[in-house]
Amino acid sequence: MAEVIDYPILALVGQEEMKTALILAAINPRVRGVLLMGPRGTGKTTAARGLVDLLPPVPRSICPHGCEPRLATISMEYICPDCAAKLEAGEDITYLASMQSVELPLNATMDDVIGGPNPRIALEQSRWQLQQGVLYYAHRNVLYVDEINLLDEEIVNAILDAASRGYYVVRRGRLIGTFPSEFLLIGSMNPEEGMLRPQLMDRLGLRVVVPPLTDPEDRLEIYERNRRFTDDPVAFAAGYAEQTMALAEEIAQSKELLPQVTIPATIAEAAMKLINTLKAQSHRAEIVLLEAARARAAADGRVDVRKEDIVVTAPLSLRQRRSDFMERFVTDSREEDSGIARVVEETLGQEKG
Ligand SMILES: [Zn+2]
Repeated sequence: MAEVIDYPILALVGQEEMKTALILAAINPRVRGVLLMGPRGTGKTTAARGLVDLLPPVPRSICPHGCEPRLATISMEYICPDCAAKLEAGEDITYLASMQSVELPLNATMDDVIGGPNPRIALEQSRWQLQQGVLYYAHRNVLYVDEINLLDEEIVNAILDAASRGYYVVRRGRLIGTFPSEFLLIGSMNPEEGMLRPQLMDRLGLRVVVPPLTDPEDRLEIYERNRRFTDDPVAFAAGYAEQTMALAEEIAQSKELLPQVTIPATIAEAAMKLINTLKAQSHRAEIVLLEAARARAAADGRVDVRKEDIVVTAPLSLRQRRSDFMERFVTDSREEDSGIARVVEETLGQEKG
């Protein structure tokens, strides 16, 4: 078989919230990725892999150094001499290509992620040459990190840093390389195997709980579709091709509409009230909520965010953001502060001069 056929995302039974979250994250990168939480076998990996079929083609660098016009706008230092000459001459240094799904292996090391020494070159020529890591291949693609809760914290941090900055730096002695890294991050985890540390969790935008379906008819339908897919993946995928293309077109249009979408003051105020009442501590909560709401408005073909957008995106953006510990910590430290102020006043207030 020349190409592996992935199970179409639209053939997933139910799990509407997961599909919605993935589509909103695809429309608006500012929601900062999606975390899928649930037991094994509920379609998380299938959805993450299938999402690329819904995404419009992206410009990709023709250069092995990954030079892009966007990097040139930051600094010409990020552009190799060849590409600098091409840009100077008004030539393209990118071409359009479809997005891919890149997966991080569970046992990945830091070198596997950001790049490390090329072992063949090191052995044969005893010199150091960079072998690119997963982040390099994830650029302008979907990066799927299965079991993100089981990875080394250092690795998750490197991925989240690259995702939020849009580039990453590889340093080896005096050698230094900067590479672009804009990707749609999808993490998945089985909460039974342990949670993600709060500071890492905070940096992932949308959160979806992906439960197993309970309706017997749904479960039977999952079995039937899987059987048809296993029998003939090409024919099965073809049955969803038209729907998939139509949705991909809608998503492309939504992405174009997004910059025009605004949030009326009354809606923004209501959203902030919601966040305060729900005691979501991190200020990332409001960014994710409002950006997800803008994406939903764009998905609906509107340029104004409405109440319904907040209703749909609030659970996705705000769940698992409240920390009882932090709440107690902040309250305790305020009490302590007023105690200190009182003692300072009592003690120093009486002193003269
Ligand atoms: Zn170049």
